[in-house]
Amino acid sequence: MDWRSDYRMTIGGELVSADETIEIVNPATGAAFATAPRASRGDLDRAVAAAVAAQKLWRRTPIDERRARLRAAAERLRGHSAEAGRLFTLEQGRPLPLAEYEITGAAAWLEAVAAMDLPVEVTEDSAARRIEVHHEPLGVVCAIVPWNFPVALAVWKIAPALLAGNTMVLKPSPFTPLCMLKIAELLREVLPPGVLNVISGGDELGPWMTAHEGFAKISFTGSTATGKRVMEAAAKDLKRVTLELGGNDAAIVLADVDVDKVAARIFQGAFFNSAQLCVATKRLYVHEAVYDRLRDALVALATEARVGDGLEPGVAFGPIQNRPQYERVLALIEDARASGLTVLQGSAPQGQGYFVPLTIVDDPPETARVVTEEAFGPVLPMMRFTALDEVIRRANDSEYGLAGAVWSGDVAKAVEVAHALETGTVWINENLHLPPHTPFGGHKQSGFGVENGQSGLLEFTRAKSIYISKPKPARAG
Ligand code: NAD
Repeated sequence: MDWRSDYRMTIGGELVSADETIEIVNPATGAAFATAPRASRGDLDRAVAAAVAAQKLWRRTPIDERRARLRAAAERLRGHSAEAGRLFTLEQGRPLPLAEYEITGAAAWLEAVAAMDLPVEVTEDSAARRIEVHHEPLGVVCAIVPWNFPVALAVWKIAPALLAGNTMVLKPSPFTPLCMLKIAELLREVLPPGVLNVISGGDELGPWMTAHEGFAKISFTGSTATGKRVMEAAAKDLKRVTLELGGNDAAIVLADVDVDKVAARIFQGAFFNSAQLCVATKRLYVHEAVYDRLRDALVALATEARVGDGLEPGVAFGPIQNRPQYERVLALIEDARASGLTVLQGSAPQGQGYFVPLTIVDDPPETARVVTEEAFGPVLPMMRFTALDEVIRRANDSEYGLAGAVWSGDVAKAVEVAHALETGTVWINENLHLPPHTPFGGHKQSGFGVENGQSGLLEFTRAKSIYISKPKPARAG
C-alpha cells in the first residue's frame, strides 16, 4: 500500500475513484500536493447500499468477534503510524511526532473501546415477569468530521458505532481527507466489506449525506453553525443525532497558583495544535494578583516556541490548516490591533504557508471580537479579574458550553467553581485530557448528546425492553 499517492474511496470493500477530484493543499507551503476523489451522488448511494447490506450480517456477528476486528484494526494502524503520520503532517500541518501520536492514540482508542460492553439491564425479575433492556444497533451511521483532528475524531465514531453493531459511511473534511482514505484502505484487511465506507468530496457532500434516507443516525463533529443545519436535515425523518460543536472555553486562574508550575501547562492548553482544538483555552481569566507574572511567562513561551513546517525537526507548532481559517485568524488579530488592544506575539515564518505567530492579547474588554468569537487559531485573549463571582459570570456569558479549566492551589474551591461553570467538561489543574471511558459533550450550543464512555456508546444504540411474563405457578390441590 502506497501512502504517498493514489487516494481512493473505500465503498463496499472496493477502492473507488471518482470522475472529479478535489485538490489537497499542504498548509505549510500553500501548494496542492495531491488530489482526492469528489464523490458523486451515485457514489454516496453505493456507499449507503453497501453499508446497509453489510449491517445485516455485522449486527449478528458476536460482539467478541467485532471486538477482535477493532483490535486488529488498532494493530494495523499502529503498524503504519510512520507512513500515516507523515501524510497527516502533509495535509493537516501538525508537527510529525504529534501527528504520529494521533495515529497511535487512535489505535489505543480502538482497543479501549473494544474492551467496552453493552450489558443487558434487568429492570425487574419478579415472580410475575422478567424485564430485560437490550441495546440494539441503529443501522447505518453517517459520520462527518472536521479537519483539526481528522483521524482521532473519526475513530471516536468508528470504534463505538462498529462495536455496537452499526455500519458506517464516513466523510472527512474536504481539507483533510487523505489520511482517512488510506486508513479505510488499510482496514479492508480486517473489516468485512461495507462495514466502514469512507468517501471524500466537496462542500455538497455533507448536505447530501444528512438528507440521505439510508442513514439511521448522524454523528457530527464541526462548527455550531453547521451543526444546526445537520439537526435541521435530520429532523425530516427523525434521524438520531449526536453533535460535537464549537466552544469558546474559559480557563480561570485563581490568585493562589504557583505561576512557575502552571504557566507551561496553561500555554499548551491554549496553543496545542496551533489552538485548532475545540477544547483549547480560548479565554484566559487571571486573578489580578498573578496576572502580570503569568502574562510575562506566557509571552516568553510564545516567543521561544518554534512555529513552522511540521516536517522540520524541532518545530512545535504547525500552520493553520487551511486558507479560509488562516484569513479568519489574521482578521481577528487585525481587529484587535485596529481596536487599540495590546497584541503580544512570537514569530512565524513568512511565505506561502499559513503560519500565524502565537499571539496573546493583553486584557481586552469582554466585547472585543477576540473574546466573543471562537478563534480556532493561536490568538489568546487574557483578561484580569478581581472577584470570583464576577469571573464566573463572565466565563458563563457565552452561547457555548464545551469545556473549561480552573487553576488553583485550593482544590475544594476549584471544585466549587467547576460546578458553577456551564460546560460539559471542567478540568482542575490540568487540561485537554479526554480519555475513552469518560463521556464528552457540550452544554448549550456546543453540542447535543455525548461521545465516549458508556453513554457515548449507547448513543449508537436504541433501547429495546423485552417483557417476559412468567407462568403462574399451578395451584396446589
Ligand atoms: P465545519 O462545521 O465547517 O465542518 C465540519 C464538517 O462538516 C466537514 O466535514 C464539512 O465538510 C462538513 N459540512 C459542512 N457543511 C455541512 C452541511 N451543511 N451538512 C453536513 N456537513 C457539512 O467545521 P470545521 O471548520 O471543519 O471545524 C471547526 C469547528 O469544529 C470548530 O467550531 C470546532 O470547535 C469544532 N469542533 C468541535 C469538536 C467537538 O468535539 N466538540 C471537535 C473538533 C472541532
